[in-house]
Amino acid sequence: MKFDPASKIQDLLQFGEFGGVNPSITDSATYTFLQAKDMLDTFHGETEDYFLYSRHWNPSNKYLAEAMATMEGTENAWLTASGMAAITNTILQLCNTGDHVVSSITTYGGTFAFLNNYLKKFNIEVSFVDITDLDSVEKAMKDNTKLIYTETMTNPMLQISDIPELKKIAARYDAKLVVDNTFTPMMVAPKLHGADIVVYSLTKYVNGKNDLVAGAVCADNDFINSLIDLNGGSSMLLGPVLDPLRSSQILKNMHTLHIRMKQHSKNASYLANKFRSAGIKVTYPGFEDDKGYKVFTKMLNKEFGYGGMLAIDLKTTEKADLFMEMMEEQGVGYLAVSLGYFKTLFSCSGKSTSSEVPEEIQKRIGMSEGLVRFSMGLDNDIQRTWNKIEYCLKELNLV
Ligand SMILES: *Cc1c(COP(=O)(O)O)cnc(C)c1O
Repeated sequence: MKFDPASKIQDLLQFGEFGGVNPSITDSATYTFLQAKDMLDTFHGETEDYFLYSRHWNPSNKYLAEAMATMEGTENAWLTASGMAAITNTILQLCNTGDHVVSSITTYGGTFAFLNNYLKKFNIEVSFVDITDLDSVEKAMKDNTKLIYTETMTNPMLQISDIPELKKIAARYDAKLVVDNTFTPMMVAPKLHGADIVVYSLTKYVNGKNDLVAGAVCADNDFINSLIDLNGGSSMLLGPVLDPLRSSQILKNMHTLHIRMKQHSKNASYLANKFRSAGIKVTYPGFEDDKGYKVFTKMLNKEFGYGGMLAIDLKTTEKADLFMEMMEEQGVGYLAVSLGYFKTLFSCSGKSTSSEVPEEIQKRIGMSEGLVRFSMGLDNDIQRTWNKIEYCLKELNLV
């Protein structure tokens, strides 16, 4: 199926009051009605085109939600003040006390902590599995399993989830498939491969400027309406609405996302090959011999490449730390968590973004203590960047 998110976003006609080429920014918490009956009907969800209160919906967020739903091919979307809010609200909306969740063991650290620690408060049980081992996913399913949770490309091991196959398993148990697509916007549209709900941290690639934190849930109308139901919606009642000023910023950045993704991918591919030629162990799902390559290629919108993420294994934390400090000094990028930025970011996963994952589990999933994760920036001259990296590797006797 040809899916062209970039052209679809380009074709959006969204303009502001007085003909502004960018939609106007909502500066109101509440909205007036000229007829009292319209307010009552809006409370009962029986009107369209009316706004009631900005925690529920506001016009700026509607524009960005429309763009996100367009990119993902979903009926609708809703925006949250962070990626974690999108994830936690979705899971809390789908599960009741006593329910069960099957999740990939490698996920974003905050997601893992929520699933492993926080859901205990509600007596919701979580089984963690190797999401690429479909037999173990199937074996973990129970009658009360409400959802399978995974990331298209999992953090930090860059495993690839087989979304069509996971959907088949979920459907057999009447469970929803929830996919975090933060690492792979435009490249993969999980909904088109069977995901029921797609969650995002917009903080990363989608916004791409590291100047704000935001999230989104992309799903059908029924699910989005349930999230913001005035009486029982987890988003409405827990209240993590995105600020309209922020959503208007993100919307503008979405219009350059397709160009950025191509450059991130190009740079990561170049460096992955350079690291490998230098004899360093590299994880990069764009290598033909990578475990996830075939599955990834099956789902991929190829013009955007294999993504901007790669990881190298320097065996020990000590070596990883020295290498990262030196790369920062040499101007390769920043030693920082997060990803999807115009500058290259690198961090040692086990001691940072995945430090919530107990060491024994880190070992089980093959996460070395010297794993350095790179989010490649938009460098115009990537060969120059490699020269700097190679200098660091040689200075530290790593090659
Ligand atoms: C950063 C991240 C999150 C959390 O998003 P925030 O915007 O920081 O709340 C969730 N999932 C993935 C894959 C992430 O990288």
